[in-house]
Amino acid sequence: MSAPPHSPDNQFPATAPLPGATVSGPPLEIAVAFVDQAATICHANAAFYTAIQASPESKLSVAKHLVADYPNQQKDIEAVFAASTSAQLHLRETDKRALQLLVHATEAGQRLIQATNVADGNQDTVYTDPLTGLGNRRLLDRILKESRQSSKLLAMIMMDLDRFKQINDTLGHGIGDKLLQLVAKRMKRTTRAKDITVRLGGDEFIILHEAGDNTNQSAKDIAARLVDVMARPFLVDGHQLNIGASIGISTLNDNTHSVDDLMRHADLALYAAKNAGRGNYLVFTESMEQKAIARRDLEIHLRRALRMKEFELVYQPQVDMPAGELTGFEALIRWNSSFRGMVPPDDFIPVAEETGEIIAIGSWVLETACREAASWNNHLAVAVNVSPVQFLTDTFVDTISRALLNSGLAPERLEIEITESILISKPEKAHQQLTTIRDMGVGIAMDDFGTGYSSLSYLNNFPISKIKIDRAFVSTEQTPKTKALVDAIITLGASLGMKTLAEGVETAEQFSQLSSSGCIAAQGYHISRPLKAQDLDHFVNEHTASQSASRTSR
Ligand code: C2E
Ligand code: CA
Ligand code: CA
Repeated sequence: MSAPPHSPDNQFPATAPLPGATVSGPPLEIAVAFVDQAATICHANAAFYTAIQASPESKLSVAKHLVADYPNQQKDIEAVFAASTSAQLHLRETDKRALQLLVHATEAGQRLIQATNVADGNQDTVYTDPLTGLGNRRLLDRILKESRQSSKLLAMIMMDLDRFKQINDTLGHGIGDKLLQLVAKRMKRTTRAKDITVRLGGDEFIILHEAGDNTNQSAKDIAARLVDVMARPFLVDGHQLNIGASIGISTLNDNTHSVDDLMRHADLALYAAKNAGRGNYLVFTESMEQKAIARRDLEIHLRRALRMKEFELVYQPQVDMPAGELTGFEALIRWNSSFRGMVPPDDFIPVAEETGEIIAIGSWVLETACREAASWNNHLAVAVNVSPVQFLTDTFVDTISRALLNSGLAPERLEIEITESILISKPEKAHQQLTTIRDMGVGIAMDDFGTGYSSLSYLNNFPISKIKIDRAFVSTEQTPKTKALVDAIITLGASLGMKTLAEGVETAEQFSQLSSSGCIAAQGYHISRPLKAQDLDHFVNEHTASQSASRTSR
């Protein structure tokens, strides 16, 4: 064998595949390195570093690196590098790809090494993610299976990109794929050669990292670096893309008894990291598990609550200002769980929205509110809260017509309360559905106004009959700023021909102040707390009586 060919960038050009070696998968660049007598790299191409799973650094001792990776074959490795003749080396280790090395001694005492990841079957492609060249789920499964038998301290670093879906949806899969390839490259650069980097699918990645001790420090260091490098912009086809990543870390130790635990813990830590605001990493803690269990129990109980008839509606009066004339009631759900007692809606509605249970619950609320209102001895209105999840289903308009039909309630007596988020997230669908609902004669109130996007100009484009000013601007200490906002909403409502109702009115002062600002209606503890269905008749009678009394006394 003669001296190696030289190329300007100190890397060997790709040549034909090695004779005798089964090269698996698509045509691979041949992996070659030129080392000195001490087996230290003088020149090597990128494929060589990949083949031996080392990070590209000059002065790497190939022999030492291989001994560290294949300790069982230390003697063979040392013998081959000590010899002055050419030799072959087959390296095999359970959690590594099998490696074949052809070591050619040169006249100058240096050696040319050709490395090939040889196949057990078609090992390389079977265990490789074709898009990024990282490992795939099968590789992960295999390594995890093998790690069950070893006593290694293994850390799992689970990474999920924060804004990948938007990019994929808006710029297309072509750009999305290129972005994933760049992400994989940055991951490779951020991790050590010994770390096993896998794409699980989509924008989820896992790094298996052999920790030096059980402090998790080295895994945290990797996670911190990853968060940092993923936060830097990516340039794809002229687009500057900012994504960022969230990371969860778990370790295989005394408290994790199985690989399934390792996965679940990493997933829980990732979920917590996302909830904590994304773009950071968290290490799994027991309390994350407790929360997950509590949450799962809540989901289970919630799923049977409808069947067990554990829900009930209470009704909070709404009055016009300044006289206080009763106009209707807002229906508010109550969950009397046989396992948990009374659960406030703020605790279970968000969960029901995430699981989709809100669709069935919301239909029940509509049906029940319409049926109960139709049975009242008056013609007062009933307002029903509608979750965005429920509103955006294709069956929502049908649900309303069915509730009206089944109950016989006049559509004019029903009002739905929606939130701004649906106007922002799905403006076309929201517009079309709201128009249909308005045309049916049903009222539409914008709930919690002032807390969300509050794009005042937006309101004008939708058929909204009422604006409910959120109680945060009413019940708390009025600052000049909140007062200005409330006044702006009232003025806007007046100019758009929409009724304004102040929520959470707790005192007579608030009531009269809002009234003199021009607010049209009010709801809150000052008028009444939410009432049980069976107490409504009594309330209506009392209220009407006190109204006529105050009228005659005036
Ligand atoms: P929301 O629609 O803003 O309902 C008003 C909430 O304010 C109710 O709490 C009510 O009891 C409370 N409230 C009324 N007057 C006052 C007051 O003067 N001061 C104070 N501090 N609070 C007052 P609740 O019943 O716990 O409901 C909380 C939230 O749960 C509701 O907020 C609504 O977003 C949701 N929710 C309630 N029932 C349903 C339902 O049937 N379907 C859906 N999707 N959501 C519902
Ligand atoms: Ca409401
Ligand atoms: Ca509200």
